[in-house]
Amino acid sequence: MLTVFGSTALDTIRTPKKTLKNVLGGAATYAAISASNFVDTGLIAIAGRDFPKKYHDLIAEHLDLKGFTIKDGKTFRYDGKYDKTLSTRATLKTQLNVSRDFKPTVPEDYRKSQFVYLANNDPEQNAKLINEFDNVKFSMCDTIDFWISTKRQAVIKMIKSVDAVVINDEEARLLTKEFNLIKCAKEMMEWGAKYVIIKKGEHGSLMFYDDIIFPTAGFPLENVVDPTGAGDSFAGAMMGYLASKKSTNLSDIKRAVVHGNVMGSFAVEQYGLGGLLRIKKGSIGKRVSMYEKMIRF
Ligand code: AMP
Repeated sequence: MLTVFGSTALDTIRTPKKTLKNVLGGAATYAAISASNFVDTGLIAIAGRDFPKKYHDLIAEHLDLKGFTIKDGKTFRYDGKYDKTLSTRATLKTQLNVSRDFKPTVPEDYRKSQFVYLANNDPEQNAKLINEFDNVKFSMCDTIDFWISTKRQAVIKMIKSVDAVVINDEEARLLTKEFNLIKCAKEMMEWGAKYVIIKKGEHGSLMFYDDIIFPTAGFPLENVVDPTGAGDSFAGAMMGYLASKKSTNLSDIKRAVVHGNVMGSFAVEQYGLGGLLRIKKGSIGKRVSMYEKMIRF
Protein backbone atom coordinates (compact mmCIF):
# COMPACT_ATOMS: atom_id res chain seq x y z
CA MET A 1 0.00 0.00 0.00
CA LEU A 2 0.95 3.62 -0.44
CA THR A 3 0.42 6.45 2.04
CA VAL A 4 0.00 10.00 0.78
CA PHE A 5 0.09 13.01 3.07
CA GLY A 6 -0.51 16.62 2.07
CA SER A 7 -3.09 19.23 1.20
CA THR A 8 -6.73 18.61 0.50
CA ALA A 9 -8.21 21.83 -0.74
CA LEU A 10 -11.05 23.80 -2.17
CA ASP A 11 -9.50 25.43 -5.22
CA THR A 12 -10.48 28.41 -7.31
CA ILE A 13 -8.88 27.95 -10.70
CA ARG A 14 -9.01 30.72 -13.27
CA THR A 15 -8.23 29.63 -16.82
CA PRO A 16 -8.70 31.85 -19.90
CA LYS A 17 -11.89 29.97 -20.84
CA LYS A 18 -13.41 29.09 -17.52
CA THR A 19 -13.24 29.80 -13.79
CA LEU A 20 -13.90 27.00 -11.32
CA LYS A 21 -14.83 28.07 -7.80
CA ASN A 22 -14.24 26.02 -4.65
CA VAL A 23 -13.71 22.77 -6.47
CA LEU A 24 -12.05 19.75 -4.92
CA GLY A 25 -8.27 20.03 -5.19
CA GLY A 26 -5.14 19.81 -3.12
CA ALA A 27 -1.80 18.27 -3.91
CA ALA A 28 -2.47 15.13 -1.88
CA THR A 29 -5.91 14.67 -3.43
CA TYR A 30 -4.51 14.71 -6.99
CA ALA A 31 -1.52 12.56 -6.05
CA ALA A 32 -3.51 9.96 -4.15
CA ILE A 33 -6.22 9.63 -6.80
CA SER A 34 -3.58 9.29 -9.48
CA ALA A 35 -1.73 6.64 -7.41
CA SER A 36 -4.94 4.73 -6.75
CA ASN A 37 -4.88 3.64 -10.41
CA PHE A 38 -1.89 1.46 -9.49
CA VAL A 39 -2.15 0.50 -5.81
CA ASP A 40 -4.33 0.79 -2.68
CA THR A 41 -3.73 4.28 -1.39
CA GLY A 42 -4.37 5.84 2.01
CA LEU A 43 -4.74 9.60 2.39
CA ILE A 44 -3.65 11.51 5.50
CA ALA A 45 -5.10 15.01 5.29
CA ILE A 46 -7.38 17.50 6.97
CA ALA A 47 -10.46 19.41 5.87
CA GLY A 48 -12.86 21.79 7.61
CA ARG A 49 -16.57 21.50 8.30
CA ASP A 50 -17.24 23.29 5.00
CA PHE A 51 -15.85 20.33 3.04
CA PRO A 52 -18.80 19.23 0.88
CA LYS A 53 -20.20 15.74 1.44
CA LYS A 54 -20.09 15.06 -2.30
CA TYR A 55 -16.30 15.54 -2.24
CA HIS A 56 -15.94 13.38 0.84
CA ASP A 57 -17.94 10.63 -0.90
CA LEU A 58 -15.86 11.01 -4.02
CA ILE A 59 -12.48 10.58 -2.31
CA ALA A 60 -13.92 7.71 -0.25
CA GLU A 61 -14.67 5.89 -3.52
CA HIS A 62 -10.99 5.88 -4.47
CA LEU A 63 -8.99 6.11 -1.25
CA ASP A 64 -8.67 4.71 2.23
CA LEU A 65 -9.60 7.55 4.58
CA LYS A 66 -8.53 6.29 8.01
CA GLY A 67 -6.10 9.20 8.18
CA PHE A 68 -8.54 11.83 6.92
CA THR A 69 -9.63 14.30 9.61
CA ILE A 70 -12.46 16.84 9.63
CA LYS A 71 -12.00 19.70 12.07
CA ASP A 72 -13.96 22.81 13.03
CA GLY A 73 -12.96 25.63 10.72
CA LYS A 74 -12.45 26.16 7.01
CA THR A 75 -10.75 23.86 4.51
CA PHE A 76 -7.42 24.91 2.97
CA ARG A 77 -8.11 27.20 0.02
CA TYR A 78 -6.03 27.96 -3.01
CA ASP A 79 -6.78 30.50 -5.74
CA GLY A 80 -4.66 30.54 -8.90
CA LYS A 81 -4.88 32.22 -12.30
CA TYR A 82 -3.35 30.99 -15.55
CA ASP A 83 -2.12 33.26 -18.31
CA LYS A 84 -3.51 32.81 -21.82
CA THR A 85 -0.90 30.20 -22.76
CA LEU A 86 -1.79 28.10 -19.70
CA SER A 87 1.91 27.77 -18.98
CA THR A 88 2.22 30.30 -16.15
CA ARG A 89 0.09 30.41 -13.04
CA ALA A 90 -0.03 33.22 -10.54
CA THR A 91 -1.12 32.44 -6.99
CA LEU A 92 -3.81 34.90 -5.95
CA LYS A 93 -4.50 33.41 -2.50
CA THR A 94 -3.29 30.65 -0.23
CA GLN A 95 -5.37 30.22 2.93
CA LEU A 96 -4.06 27.48 5.18
CA ASN A 97 -7.09 27.49 7.50
CA VAL A 98 -7.45 24.17 9.37
CA SER A 99 -4.23 22.82 7.87
CA ARG A 100 -2.15 25.49 9.65
CA ASP A 101 -1.95 23.76 13.03
CA PHE A 102 -2.62 20.24 11.83
CA LYS A 103 -0.82 17.65 13.96
CA PRO A 104 -1.22 14.59 11.81
CA THR A 105 -0.76 11.09 13.13
CA VAL A 106 -0.25 7.94 11.14
CA PRO A 107 -3.09 5.43 11.58
CA GLU A 108 -1.87 2.13 13.04
CA ASP A 109 -2.62 0.29 9.75
CA TYR A 110 -0.38 2.66 7.78
CA ARG A 111 2.70 2.47 10.01
CA LYS A 112 4.12 -0.43 8.05
CA SER A 113 3.61 1.39 4.74
CA GLN A 114 6.84 1.01 2.76
CA PHE A 115 6.04 3.74 0.25
CA VAL A 116 5.20 7.22 1.49
CA TYR A 117 4.57 10.34 -0.54
CA LEU A 118 4.73 13.73 1.17
CA ALA A 119 2.78 15.90 -1.22
CA ASN A 120 3.03 19.63 -1.26
CA ASN A 121 2.31 20.77 2.30
CA ASP A 122 3.88 22.47 5.33
CA PRO A 123 7.46 21.10 5.25
CA GLU A 124 7.63 20.92 9.05
CA GLN A 125 4.53 18.72 9.19
CA ASN A 126 5.92 16.60 6.36
CA ALA A 127 9.33 16.05 7.97
CA LYS A 128 7.71 15.13 11.28
CA LEU A 129 5.25 12.68 9.77
CA ILE A 130 7.83 10.61 7.92
CA ASN A 131 9.41 9.65 11.28
CA GLU A 132 6.19 7.99 12.37
CA PHE A 133 6.52 5.13 9.88
CA ASP A 134 8.28 1.92 10.93
CA ASN A 135 9.76 0.61 7.73
CA VAL A 136 9.90 3.08 4.84
CA LYS A 137 11.52 1.72 1.70
CA PHE A 138 10.97 4.75 -0.52
CA SER A 139 9.77 8.24 0.34
CA MET A 140 9.40 11.27 -1.85
CA CYS A 141 8.38 14.89 -1.29
CA ASP A 142 7.29 17.90 -3.31
CA THR A 143 7.10 21.59 -2.48
CA ILE A 144 5.82 24.87 -3.94
CA ASP A 145 6.97 28.51 -4.03
CA PHE A 146 4.75 29.41 -1.05
CA TRP A 147 6.75 27.10 1.28
CA ILE A 148 10.11 27.98 -0.28
CA SER A 149 9.42 31.65 0.37
CA THR A 150 8.06 31.21 3.89
CA LYS A 151 9.95 28.19 5.29
CA ARG A 152 13.04 27.58 3.12
CA GLN A 153 15.15 26.00 5.89
CA ALA A 154 12.32 23.62 6.75
CA VAL A 155 12.06 22.64 3.08
CA ILE A 156 15.78 21.79 3.06
CA LYS A 157 15.34 19.77 6.26
CA MET A 158 12.40 17.92 4.70
CA ILE A 159 14.57 17.05 1.70
CA LYS A 160 17.13 15.52 4.06
CA SER A 161 14.44 13.24 5.48
CA VAL A 162 13.33 11.57 2.21
CA ASP A 163 14.81 9.47 -0.61
CA ALA A 164 13.52 11.56 -3.49
CA VAL A 165 12.39 15.06 -4.33
CA VAL A 166 9.99 15.83 -7.12
CA ILE A 167 9.82 19.54 -7.89
CA ASN A 168 9.11 21.74 -10.86
CA ASP A 169 11.84 23.67 -12.64
CA GLU A 170 10.88 27.16 -11.42
CA GLU A 171 10.68 25.96 -7.85
CA ALA A 172 13.98 24.07 -8.09
CA ARG A 173 15.61 27.34 -9.19
CA LEU A 174 13.93 29.36 -6.45
CA LEU A 175 14.93 26.85 -3.79
CA THR A 176 18.55 26.27 -4.78
CA LYS A 177 19.27 29.76 -6.12
CA GLU A 178 20.83 28.15 -9.20
CA PHE A 179 19.51 28.49 -12.76
CA ASN A 180 20.96 25.45 -14.53
CA LEU A 181 18.79 22.44 -13.69
CA ILE A 182 21.75 20.06 -13.33
CA LYS A 183 23.23 22.43 -10.76
CA CYS A 184 19.84 22.62 -9.03
CA ALA A 185 19.66 18.82 -8.82
CA LYS A 186 23.23 18.53 -7.55
CA GLU A 187 22.46 20.99 -4.79
CA MET A 188 19.40 19.02 -3.68
CA MET A 189 21.47 15.82 -3.76
CA GLU A 190 24.04 17.55 -1.55
CA TRP A 191 21.23 18.18 0.93
CA GLY A 192 20.53 14.46 1.06
CA ALA A 193 18.09 13.47 -1.70
CA LYS A 194 19.20 10.33 -3.56
CA TYR A 195 16.85 10.97 -6.46
CA VAL A 196 15.78 14.33 -7.83
CA ILE A 197 13.02 14.60 -10.41
CA ILE A 198 12.63 18.05 -11.93
CA LYS A 199 9.32 18.50 -13.73
CA LYS A 200 9.21 20.82 -16.70
CA GLY A 201 5.47 21.09 -17.34
CA GLU A 202 4.51 20.11 -20.88
CA HIS A 203 8.19 19.44 -21.63
CA GLY A 204 8.46 16.42 -19.36
CA SER A 205 11.07 15.93 -16.70
CA LEU A 206 14.67 15.23 -15.77
CA MET A 207 15.46 12.48 -13.28
CA PHE A 208 18.81 12.52 -11.50
CA TYR A 209 20.40 9.68 -9.58
CA ASP A 210 24.09 9.48 -8.74
CA ASP A 211 25.73 10.60 -12.00
CA ILE A 212 22.82 9.40 -14.12
CA ILE A 213 20.42 11.78 -15.86
CA PHE A 214 17.20 10.36 -17.31
CA PRO A 215 15.36 12.93 -19.44
CA THR A 216 11.79 12.21 -20.50
CA ALA A 217 9.40 14.04 -22.79
CA GLY A 218 5.92 15.07 -21.80
CA PHE A 219 3.17 13.09 -23.55
CA PRO A 220 2.30 15.41 -26.46
CA LEU A 221 -1.25 16.75 -26.33
CA GLU A 222 -3.10 19.08 -28.64
CA ASN A 223 -5.82 20.14 -26.21
CA VAL A 224 -4.92 21.21 -22.70
CA VAL A 225 -7.58 22.93 -20.60
CA ASP A 226 -6.32 23.01 -17.00
CA PRO A 227 -2.80 22.08 -15.86
CA THR A 228 -3.72 22.18 -12.15
CA GLY A 229 -2.57 19.08 -10.36
CA ALA A 230 -0.50 17.75 -13.26
CA GLY A 231 2.64 17.70 -11.13
CA ASP A 232 0.83 16.00 -8.26
CA SER A 233 -0.65 13.43 -10.64
CA PHE A 234 2.83 12.82 -12.02
CA ALA A 235 4.26 12.24 -8.53
CA GLY A 236 1.30 10.13 -7.40
CA ALA A 237 1.66 7.91 -10.47
CA MET A 238 5.38 7.47 -9.80
CA MET A 239 4.75 6.42 -6.21
CA GLY A 240 1.73 4.28 -7.08
CA TYR A 241 3.67 2.49 -9.79
CA LEU A 242 6.67 1.79 -7.50
CA ALA A 243 4.45 0.67 -4.63
CA SER A 244 2.58 -1.70 -6.96
CA LYS A 245 5.90 -3.25 -8.01
CA LYS A 246 7.27 -3.04 -4.43
CA SER A 247 10.45 -1.96 -6.14
CA THR A 248 12.99 0.81 -5.88
CA ASN A 249 15.43 -0.35 -8.52
CA LEU A 250 16.57 2.18 -11.05
CA SER A 251 14.84 0.67 -14.09
CA ASP A 252 11.50 0.67 -12.22
CA ILE A 253 12.09 4.24 -11.11
CA LYS A 254 12.60 5.17 -14.78
CA ARG A 255 9.36 3.38 -15.68
CA ALA A 256 7.67 5.18 -12.80
CA VAL A 257 8.75 8.50 -14.31
CA VAL A 258 7.22 7.51 -17.65
CA HIS A 259 3.95 6.64 -15.86
CA GLY A 260 4.22 10.06 -14.22
CA ASN A 261 4.33 11.76 -17.60
CA VAL A 262 1.37 9.72 -18.81
CA MET A 263 -0.81 10.41 -15.76
CA GLY A 264 0.08 14.11 -15.90
CA SER A 265 -1.25 14.11 -19.46
CA PHE A 266 -4.64 12.75 -18.35
CA ALA A 267 -4.85 15.37 -15.60
CA VAL A 268 -4.54 18.39 -17.90
CA GLU A 269 -7.11 17.33 -20.48
CA GLN A 270 -10.11 18.24 -18.33
CA TYR A 271 -10.89 20.76 -15.61
CA GLY A 272 -9.96 20.03 -12.01
CA LEU A 273 -9.90 16.35 -11.12
CA GLY A 274 -12.09 15.52 -14.14
CA GLY A 275 -9.22 14.18 -16.23
CA LEU A 276 -8.10 11.73 -13.54
CA LEU A 277 -11.59 10.64 -12.62
CA ARG A 278 -12.63 9.80 -16.17
CA ILE A 279 -9.76 7.54 -17.17
CA LYS A 280 -11.18 4.54 -19.00
CA LYS A 281 -10.02 1.03 -18.27
CA GLY A 282 -6.96 0.15 -20.31
CA SER A 283 -6.21 3.69 -21.39
CA ILE A 284 -3.18 4.14 -19.09
CA GLY A 285 -1.47 1.08 -20.57
CA LYS A 286 -2.40 2.26 -24.06
CA ARG A 287 -0.83 5.66 -23.51
CA VAL A 288 2.31 4.11 -22.01
CA SER A 289 2.66 1.94 -25.15
CA MET A 290 2.11 4.95 -27.41
CA TYR A 291 4.74 6.83 -25.42
CA GLU A 292 7.25 3.99 -25.80
CA LYS A 293 6.63 3.89 -29.54
CA MET A 294 7.02 7.66 -29.87
CA ILE A 295 10.38 7.90 -28.14
CA ARG A 296 11.98 4.80 -29.66
CA PHE A 297 14.57 5.46 -32.38
P1 AMP B 1 0.10 21.76 -9.03
O1 AMP B 1 -0.76 22.26 -10.14
O2 AMP B 1 0.67 20.39 -9.29
O3 AMP B 1 1.13 22.76 -8.59
O4 AMP B 1 -0.84 21.55 -7.76
C1 AMP B 1 -1.90 22.38 -7.47
C2 AMP B 1 -2.57 21.92 -6.19
O5 AMP B 1 -1.72 22.21 -5.08
C3 AMP B 1 -3.87 22.65 -5.97
O6 AMP B 1 -4.94 21.72 -5.97
C4 AMP B 1 -3.70 23.36 -4.64
O7 AMP B 1 -4.80 23.16 -3.78
C5 AMP B 1 -2.46 22.78 -4.03
N1 AMP B 1 -1.64 23.83 -3.40
C6 AMP B 1 -1.40 25.08 -3.86
N2 AMP B 1 -0.60 25.77 -3.01
C7 AMP B 1 -0.31 24.94 -1.99
C8 AMP B 1 0.46 25.05 -0.77
N3 AMP B 1 1.09 26.19 -0.45
N4 AMP B 1 0.54 23.97 0.03
C9 AMP B 1 -0.08 22.83 -0.29
N5 AMP B 1 -0.84 22.65 -1.39
C10 AMP B 1 -0.97 23.69 -2.24
